[in-house]
Amino acid sequence: MSEYKGLMVFAEQHEGRIHPVSYELLGKGTEIAQKLGIEVSSVLLGSEMGDEINELFYYGAEKVYYFDNPVLADFDLLNYKHNLVRLVNEVKPETVLVGATHLGRSLGPRVACALATGLTADCTALEVGDEGNLIQIRPAFSGNIFAHIRTTTRPQMATVRYKVMQKLDRDASRTGEIVRKDADIIDSVLKIVSKESAGGVNIAEADVVVCGGRGLKCAADFALMEELAAALGGVVGCTRPIVDDGWISKQHQVGFSGNTVKPRLYVAAGVSGSPQHLAGMRDSDVILAINADPSAPIFKVADYGIVGDLYEVIPRLAAEARQRS
Ligand SMILES: Cc1cc2nc3c(=O)[nH]c(=O)nc-3n(C[C@H](O)[C@H](O)[C@H](O)COP(=O)(O)OP(=O)(O)OC[C@H]3O[C@@H](n4cnc5c(N)ncnc54)[C@H](O)[C@@H]3O)c2cc1C
Repeated sequence: MSEYKGLMVFAEQHEGRIHPVSYELLGKGTEIAQKLGIEVSSVLLGSEMGDEINELFYYGAEKVYYFDNPVLADFDLLNYKHNLVRLVNEVKPETVLVGATHLGRSLGPRVACALATGLTADCTALEVGDEGNLIQIRPAFSGNIFAHIRTTTRPQMATVRYKVMQKLDRDASRTGEIVRKDADIIDSVLKIVSKESAGGVNIAEADVVVCGGRGLKCAADFALMEELAAALGGVVGCTRPIVDDGWISKQHQVGFSGNTVKPRLYVAAGVSGSPQHLAGMRDSDVILAINADPSAPIFKVADYGIVGDLYEVIPRLAAEARQRS
């Protein structure tokens, strides 16, 4: 096991732009590496990434392994996996971190399987344990406990949720070494015929999230949330039962099995505050809760609370916000 050294972050890119989860992983990776006195590297697969590569240095990478090939411009699972496995076998990092995005959740386990090592999925915290082992922490049993997991094989692999780690401040004076690697391109089942935008919201990036829960009586009443979100320049979120009932798509769901959000303002209306919901929003800067029940658990994490009927409170808040904008 001693032949494995260093920490490697998989840098995810879409259309030539690096996903911010990669910077968050570099931030955490730097903290861990400083404790252990090891190097933080990053691996990027893409095509003609240009100056974007430097962003990885600005956010903490000391070395970037870069595979440049037109086939790697878009996420081609077989080729990404094949080349990542080759690199890990060559460089032998002790730890490999991957964002728990759609792409990372698809890629990470396949790479771990090919390397015959363990992977902890969807981590929300990482610590350094005895003998420098990575302690991988993730919610378990429906989010009621946090499991602390240690991998006995190497490399130690984890996928980590977006918006749970802190990235370093961007420092354009940081530099590092780019190690260009030749991609070994294999026959792939992926053929991109045309590209279309999926549209929709990016709730994880929103500054303001207005979340509706089961305090709403019917799907049509969700318009109240949309009205307040529009007045505040934000997007709507929801609890899981709202998605289960088909009122709104899953991309709006906040919580353990949905999105993690960290907006400047989170408004929770008719939301009880289950542990599974809190797991996705408790780190918001300011939380405003509106609930008819003064003993609702959401008030324990709220910065401001209004005990009242959301059907009265939300239209008044929306009117006030519109007047001030
Ligand atoms: C494995 C697993 C994963 C899960 N993942 C998630 C997840 O990702 N996200 C998530 O949200 N949940 C998740 N859940 C579900 C979770 O356990 C709760 O059931 C859910 O969060 C409750 O949603 P709610 O707060 O909308 O509903 P409720 O708990 O029913 O709360 C409704 C609240 O509305 C209030 N209310 C009622 N009428 C009004 C009114 N007129 N005005 C103001 N307030 C009113 C009530 O007082 C109550 O507090 C998960 C569960 C499991 C088992």
